[in-house]
Amino acid sequence: MGPVQIPSLTFENGYKIPVIGLGTWKSKPGEVERAVQDAIDAGYRHLDCACVYGNESEVGHGIRYKIDEGVVQREDLFVTSKEDGDLMPTDSDGNIVLSDVDYLDTWRQMEKCVHLGLTRSIGLSNFNSQQIDRVLANATIKPVNLQVECNPYLTQKKLINFCKSRGITVTGYSPMGSPDSPYFKVGMPRLLEDPKLKEVAQLVGKSVGQVVLRYLVQRGLVTVPKSVTKSRIQENINIFNFELSEADMNYIDSFNQNLRICHRDHAKGHKYYPFNAEF
Ligand code: NDP
Repeated sequence: MGPVQIPSLTFENGYKIPVIGLGTWKSKPGEVERAVQDAIDAGYRHLDCACVYGNESEVGHGIRYKIDEGVVQREDLFVTSKEDGDLMPTDSDGNIVLSDVDYLDTWRQMEKCVHLGLTRSIGLSNFNSQQIDRVLANATIKPVNLQVECNPYLTQKKLINFCKSRGITVTGYSPMGSPDSPYFKVGMPRLLEDPKLKEVAQLVGKSVGQVVLRYLVQRGLVTVPKSVTKSRIQENINIFNFELSEADMNYIDSFNQNLRICHRDHAKGHKYYPFNAEF
């Protein structure tokens, strides 16, 4: 079987983003290079990275290897990065020191990156609707995408409709409920073990992970499941040969609990903490 052809969404600026990308947060530097290579071989053309994940150079080595092998060219790949300035500086007590930079200043610098040809598209992550509107009111280049946590336990209906109304695509992160997250607390429900999702999965003859990813993609979202396991990397893009019925989609919608895993408690006191707003 050849590589899977993954469909894309088109941004307002005309560039395209494949609807499934490989997540790389928590992927150990020693594992991620192989994972990136397996992903590219399987058909992934979108990699979700960040400086703060501490593994971008290994991701880059994986990409370089596949380009040198002739499997892909750089222009075939959509690579997301997220810049955080000084990575999580701490005070003498070990507490994270929060920056008070206005995100509009950051946005202006990102616009400069576009003008300098350093990137084609710029977007936002973990912004609420008021913050997005503040960026839109001041931007000379519009954000093309918002990346936020989204899965059947956090369906984000209002925020996603808001983004659609403003022509901004949405990428859902932590689609599997981020079971390997440091924020995942004992007693939290495990999405991949949800009995109702298992029931849907059995009915359509797919895994729970595949049902969750199909649910997000069928809602018109992009999503970026993280895995360093070859079989799962392959499984997670094998979702374009089945459909969930409208009844299945509505049923999965009803699993929403507004359960956010990646709530970043350490930043709760920050003036721009995004998650106190309704959406
Ligand atoms: P995910 O919801 O993608 O879950 C990852 C976990 O699920 C891993 O333990 C992985 O295991 C496991 N897994 C993956 N596929 C399957 C499968 N088919 N069946 C069973 N288990 C599976 O969590 P993340 O929080 O990592 O979110 C995905 C990506 O989103 C991140 O890696 C990152 O790129 C991005 N992200 C962005 C954030 C932001 O603030 N912008 C915040 C959080 C995430 P294994 O690896 O062992 O195979």
